[in-house]
Amino acid sequence: MSNSLQSLTVAKFGGTSVANFEAMSRCAQIILDNNDIRLVAVSASAGVTNLLVKLGNESLSANERESVLQQIRNIQNSILNDLGRPQDLEQVIEQLLGQLAEVAAQDDVLTSTKLKDEILSFGERMSSQLFAAVMNKVANADVATSFDGRQVLKTDSTFGKAEPNLAVTKQHATDVLVPLLKEKVVITQGFIGQDSFGNTTTLGRGGSDYSAALFAEAVDAFALQIWTDVTGIYTTDPRITDKARPIGEISFNEAAEMATFGAKILHPATLIPAIRSGVKVFVGSSLEPNAGGTWISKEVSHKPAFRAVALRKDQTLITVTSPEMLHATGFLARVFAILAKHKLSIDLITTSEISVALTIDNPPNTPMADLTDACIRDLKDFCSVKVESDLALVAVIGNHIHSGQDGTGRISSIFRTVENDQLRLICHGASQHNVCFLVEQASAENIVRRIHDDLFAA
Ligand code: ADP
Ligand code: ASP
Ligand code: MG
Repeated sequence: MSNSLQSLTVAKFGGTSVANFEAMSRCAQIILDNNDIRLVAVSASAGVTNLLVKLGNESLSANERESVLQQIRNIQNSILNDLGRPQDLEQVIEQLLGQLAEVAAQDDVLTSTKLKDEILSFGERMSSQLFAAVMNKVANADVATSFDGRQVLKTDSTFGKAEPNLAVTKQHATDVLVPLLKEKVVITQGFIGQDSFGNTTTLGRGGSDYSAALFAEAVDAFALQIWTDVTGIYTTDPRITDKARPIGEISFNEAAEMATFGAKILHPATLIPAIRSGVKVFVGSSLEPNAGGTWISKEVSHKPAFRAVALRKDQTLITVTSPEMLHATGFLARVFAILAKHKLSIDLITTSEISVALTIDNPPNTPMADLTDACIRDLKDFCSVKVESDLALVAVIGNHIHSGQDGTGRISSIFRTVENDQLRLICHGASQHNVCFLVEQASAENIVRRIHDDLFAA
């Protein structure tokens, strides 16, 4: 294996890619086939984080808690069995499971975001240990080592959606990680980090993509590979329609917009470090590593008017109305000040003189209702407030959409496609890369299929 870090590549493997021994072995082979992959960030094995969320968010009896822990243990055990139960590793996993059981039994789990993050971290902490062992077994040599990424990925203390401290992360990467990359393939965890007090933090659900991009930036990598369960980014979620087609190359801006508008294939923040560091990003399937995938880069040769349709579910629309504000000033400023006080960030917004309709980002690990109740009470002090849920956001992503100059008149055909649907909010004009509608959740997938058919399946 070469020790040059010239074309250093960071690879990330998602939950289904590390679901079991067989899946992990396929990923190990991808790494062994490419000498440039020296740093690997893994997700928790499929299903594990959802089980950990249960431990952190639901009020469980001791028996129920034990049953969830057993399900987690079974997933780790099946991989350990296929590895031949090496004693050292078995001990490490048992120790982690023991620590998890202890944290999960603490009284204040349901109210402490700090404990929730500690609980959520165990999936990646176990899968990275198991993956390094699988890698060494497949290579039949001691080529890989597991590494606690929390030594490098330093964050603030916003549990559930921690923000990385880039300077400190870079410093630790240079000091401890880069030297190690010259010796071994380093297997670390996606999703988790550490604040300046030594507490474990997480970057938000699906955050392993973001971690991998942050690691790639911190070690000055040349390329970042995101290995998942589909052969790249498609024109829409292939689970919604079998007419979805893979996209060969896409710009950072378009892909970032897709991720922001709900395309689960990438965590929304993934491309921020990639854009900053200029690292090229590849998205492919660990099930079919030779089937090609999507390259994401700054410049692309083809910038179509319409690139993809994205769907983001579970949106809440808040409409605030104050007739007293007719011809008065400061209405929006007052609404924004209240939202800011409650640390809610606005996602989409449309306004009229006396009312404003908006959706807000739903921070992970916190039920929306808890967050908005206090805010709504404050808003109600000076205006009437209507809250609607069971909505979904459908976004069409492309280029120069704001100008409507796609030359085909198809922007109007998008509106024709949805003319009989109930649209609760339309956003068009602020971004050159998207037009989006808030629709009833029950009809959202159908709308995506119709728009997709109109734009891409002709
Ligand atoms: P991983 O565990 O590897 O991170 P995810 O489940 O988070 O995988 O993301 C992959 C999934 O994203 C796919 O299985 C697919 O259903 C979904 N997805 C949503 N939108 C798209 C899209 N435009 N292209 C490809 N996949 C998409
Ligand atoms: N395991 C975490 C999750 O399921 C992070 C990730 O897989 O990206 O959200
Ligand atoms: Mg993911």
